[in-house]
Amino acid sequence: MPVRSPYPDVEIPEISLFDFLFTDFGGRDAEPALIDGGSGASISFAELRGMVEKIAAALAERGIAKGDVVGIFAPNTPYYAAVFHGILRANAIVTSANSLYSPGELAHQLTDSGAKLLFTVSPFLDRAAAAAEQAGLPADSIIVLDAAEGYTSLHDLWGTTAATPAQDTLPTDTAVLPYSSGTTGLAKGVILTHRNLVANLLQIQQMGTVTGDTRILAVLPFFHIYGMTVMMNQGLHANATVITMPKFDLPEFLRIIADHRIQRVYIAPPVAVALAKHPIVDQYDLSCIDIIFSGAAPLDAELGHAMGKRLGCTVLQGYGMTELSPVSHCMPDDRPDLDLNSSGFALPNIVCKLVDPETGEEVGPGGRGELWVKGPNVMVGYLNNPEATAITLDDEGYLHTGDVAEVTEDGVFSIVDRVKELIKYKGYQVPPAELEALLLTNPKIADAAVIGVRDDEGEEVPKAFVVLQDGVELSADDVMAFVAERIAPHKKVRVVEFIDVIPKSASGKILRKDLRAREAAKA
Ligand code: AMP
Repeated sequence: MPVRSPYPDVEIPEISLFDFLFTDFGGRDAEPALIDGGSGASISFAELRGMVEKIAAALAERGIAKGDVVGIFAPNTPYYAAVFHGILRANAIVTSANSLYSPGELAHQLTDSGAKLLFTVSPFLDRAAAAAEQAGLPADSIIVLDAAEGYTSLHDLWGTTAATPAQDTLPTDTAVLPYSSGTTGLAKGVILTHRNLVANLLQIQQMGTVTGDTRILAVLPFFHIYGMTVMMNQGLHANATVITMPKFDLPEFLRIIADHRIQRVYIAPPVAVALAKHPIVDQYDLSCIDIIFSGAAPLDAELGHAMGKRLGCTVLQGYGMTELSPVSHCMPDDRPDLDLNSSGFALPNIVCKLVDPETGEEVGPGGRGELWVKGPNVMVGYLNNPEATAITLDDEGYLHTGDVAEVTEDGVFSIVDRVKELIKYKGYQVPPAELEALLLTNPKIADAAVIGVRDDEGEEVPKAFVVLQDGVELSADDVMAFVAERIAPHKKVRVVEFIDVIPKSASGKILRKDLRAREAAKA
């Protein structure tokens, strides 16, 4: 029997994300919506709406129209939110790119999504300009959020005299195209509609206590759906204040929490290690923190408890996936008593199944199976990729997550394993297929396969199995350097093993299971 959320369904209004977030600020129009944690500069809700409308007008003036795609390649700042919603307000679509991307990776996303413009910041301009060139975009298609000689800046957009375009967005229109490799293959554009995003915000709202008085720290990137929905848009929806950080730096992270009296901190598990163990944590008054919420990768309960005890706060875990807008399960604010190894309950409007990947049979409480999720937050599909969509979404509307879960009689889900290829390094996606394709471009490498293994600290890291061409010499360091030079730092290969042959099925598919079994046998 499918497991329904224990919470009553919420009604999803048929409106655009802009109308959902920017119509009523609950009287907090003049209060800060976003604060730059570094400089302290803030933007109020009313100012943000004004910026969003100006950006939309300037984009329309540049010919951006309904259905056009605009890229954002920038770290978290208050202006990220202005640009993001400005693009949507122009009836266009955002594709958000990982700010660690190399030019090649960014160019792929720009080309694949068909982006017409790209917003970036001056420190990223070298990579952005190289990517735009590779993607065939003219130099004047880049807009910098700060300023750079020869480029249009956000400041220039404020000068527009054009009118804000009429809103022409349907709830079923695509809002964002974040990139995810899903269960297999290369990164693909995940089609999330306005309705998907509005739904997930309402679903999340039922589980938490975020209000206009809440101060949220947004260190996790807005380009990833976790930062985008759970921090940036949830903050706007609740009329809360979101304090941004462009990248993780422990002392600065702790200073911002203490100075801004942050109550709610969203993290990925590696941050929990620092908060539980690093001596510097004791130098800051962190008594303001009420809740630390961990997602994006499995949190170890023992570590979570150690962190909660040290900081005197509640620790919660949730589970999500880009294709789910992203949250499908979480521990609600009022149930910190749940097992911290779990990801809590299914959110309202969600129905799940656990299905044995071998037999295709549904399993009940006590059993383990692949988690299938159905609900209004489930993506429409992958952009221009019906094959990948068909593998992931079934005829009944269930999204096959590629994660293995268990559920208790009370409906508490725990993610216990993964059947998909994906590796997550510090919460970031590393698609093995991408690394394998890259390794094969090295003329000394005859064949390669990549899987995730645990390092000494328990972090999942990419390991490459490499078959060399006859008679050549290549060291493990050479292999790692070859990859590192060509790819974003989080995708680096961190372990290399040379083998004679990559195990493959009769149809030529890499048998990752065999490689994993080989690793397990060594442990
Ligand atoms: P992404 O699309 O980048 O958000 O990655 C989604 C994947 O992250 C999921 O399919 C899981 O494999 C993993 N993940 C996210 N949250 C959790 C969690 N709480 N526990 C275990 N794995 C998680």
